Amino acid sequence: MKLRLKSTKHNTLIMNTMKKINNTWPTNTKEQPLIIAGPCSAETEEQVMEIAHQLKTTGTSIYRAGIWKPRTRPGMFEGVGAEGLKWLQRVKEETGLRVATEVANKDHVNECLKHGIDVLWIGARTTANPFAVQEIADALQGVDVPVLVKNPVNPDVNLWLGAIERLEKAGISNPGAIHRGISPLGKSIYRNNPEWQMPLALKEQRPDILLINDPSHIAGNRQLLAGIAETAIGLEMEGLMIETHHNPDAAWSDAAQQITPQALTVLLAKMKLTTGTAAEVATADLGNMRSSIDYIDEQLIDLLSYRMQVVAEIGQYKRQHGMAVIQEERWTELLTKHASQAAGRNLDGEFVTQLFNSIHRESVNRQNLV
Ligand code: PEP
Ligand code: MN
Repeated sequence: MKLRLKSTKHNTLIMNTMKKINNTWPTNTKEQPLIIAGPCSAETEEQVMEIAHQLKTTGTSIYRAGIWKPRTRPGMFEGVGAEGLKWLQRVKEETGLRVATEVANKDHVNECLKHGIDVLWIGARTTANPFAVQEIADALQGVDVPVLVKNPVNPDVNLWLGAIERLEKAGISNPGAIHRGISPLGKSIYRNNPEWQMPLALKEQRPDILLINDPSHIAGNRQLLAGIAETAIGLEMEGLMIETHHNPDAAWSDAAQQITPQALTVLLAKMKLTTGTAAEVATADLGNMRSSIDYIDEQLIDLLSYRMQVVAEIGQYKRQHGMAVIQEERWTELLTKHASQAAGRNLDGEFVTQLFNSIHRESVNRQNLV
């Protein structure tokens, strides 16, 4: 599949989109992809304002924040509701950023229009439901506000196109599309598999509409974010929507995938999408490496905890069958195996043996407690 959109054309498209929102598309970012950033969810007025002010210097044009949150399972934070729209109005006034939020029904649309929200987006779960999309389209009849449509959670390009067409029929002259991947069946390194052929197929059929990428919801974690963003821009997608929070680990939703505005600056600078100083890029490099270490350590702890659970089950089994906790032969066999595995992985044998001796000691303690 070949992309037909040329970069000059896509810049014009972004310009046109932005003109609809506001006539003052800043000239210094004219050549650059559209950057939408902001938290997964608006949590408090202070959080919304803090992030918005920090984003002012990052090359972000549109501030995003979810007000009504479509959570997969009940009982999680479902958004602050219409009250948050006033906070977005304040963002507009104080920072000059355009503001965007997700709508899933006619009430959401009406509230957004009342509060002057510049850009609306339709979430992946909503795009999969033509009744809901039609209700949104009907509520938008006669109001030409920019609407971005996320791909549905299932790999159906027609459903995605259909949602865009419903909006166009209602008079939306500048719909855009957001590629956010699809739910995987079973284990995947991604939260949502990118399935790059989906946005490429959409582009093939609708080269005239804005297509941006949401690496945050594809990755589900900070580690994979930059690689996905780079691929998307390499495939000539025209912008990025990246979830950004001043204190990502404390976010009320999607904490693992959000990055700080500073990390966003560096991510964009490394992709040469905005200018960042050498010092900023170096700091970010170190930050990225450190966050990889944090991620690996977390996984190590999860694995150790899982190992101890299994150890306890084995302890129970040995007790039921009158077997000894320490079985010397088995332990020697394991140590030999670890030593040869370590040698093949560029790890010091003595270090690995010590580490496993310590794990073994704890395992024996656990089994004695059973
Ligand atoms: C979001 O952007 O916060 C969101 C809920 O995304 P999606 O619809 O892609 O899951
Ligand atoms: Mn989110």
